[in-house]
Amino acid sequence: MQVFDTVSGLREFLAAHRAASKRIGLVPTMGYLHAGHLSLVHAARRECDVVVMSIFVNPKQFGPQEDFATYPRDMEGDLHQACEAGVDAVFAPSVQEMYPPGFLTEVAVHELTAPLCGASRPGHFNGVTTVVAKLFNIVGPDRAYFGQKDYQQVTVLRQMATDLCMPLEVITCPTVREPDGLAMSSRNAYLNPAERQAALVLSRALRLAEERLAQGERQGARLTATLRDCIVKEPLARIDYVAVCDPDTLREVAQISDPVLVALAVYIGKTRLIDNALLHAEN
Ligand code: AMP
Repeated sequence: MQVFDTVSGLREFLAAHRAASKRIGLVPTMGYLHAGHLSLVHAARRECDVVVMSIFVNPKQFGPQEDFATYPRDMEGDLHQACEAGVDAVFAPSVQEMYPPGFLTEVAVHELTAPLCGASRPGHFNGVTTVVAKLFNIVGPDRAYFGQKDYQQVTVLRQMATDLCMPLEVITCPTVREPDGLAMSSRNAYLNPAERQAALVLSRALRLAEERLAQGERQGARLTATLRDCIVKEPLARIDYVAVCDPDTLREVAQISDPVLVALAVYIGKTRLIDNALLHAEN
């Protein structure tokens, strides 16, 4: 596995592969790797000839009061895991390399970025689309792999790729969970043992949503209220949002149809966790 910290170094490495018509897969991450990230690598490994992983904690996607400075980092451990998983090249640039002095551009997707995490984290998705557009331009992947865990993110990025005629496929991979149901996340490292237990309320609420849909619930507002009731019973939890949405527009729905997206953001102590499920509501 090769590791690059410059755009030019990575491009030189990829030029030979591109000339040989190799299929290039890209897995963008912010590092502190876990099995969720590695599932994206495994998918890329199956479908592509060359797998590139980026590891970059992107300052532009963090708000001023958010956790950019404290975001967990472990480059040595990440490189070990990436190598074991079969990554061919890691791109781990500095902030300077990605945003040199004089950088003036922002990529913004409208409407899809307004609700859910976009409403709670102003500017977040512009940071995401800007960095991922750059990564797509640097790597020129045939396929780029993202997790369903960040459902709104992958929806926004697919829209960006379509709108800007980026010649690649955006692939969504399923959310990888701990055995007890908690969606894997680098931010789970922030949780103390009591919070780690309390964090199960997210996956519990999603299971409850599935049950209610199976029992015939079709009112978005009533399902949202049920999930809120479930979450507020957990004393360490504070709801950011609970939403029952159209999976394409991400707008909340009054009348549930099939399929439906149930999306949650909940603070457990100071840690903001998200989770979602794409659920069936057949009549
Ligand atoms: P991050 O490092 O948190 O920015 O995540 C990098 C990529 O890994 C994104 O596409 C995430 O959606 C994906 N990812 C994060 N957690 C999981 C998970 N538990 N299961 C599947 N994919 C995930």
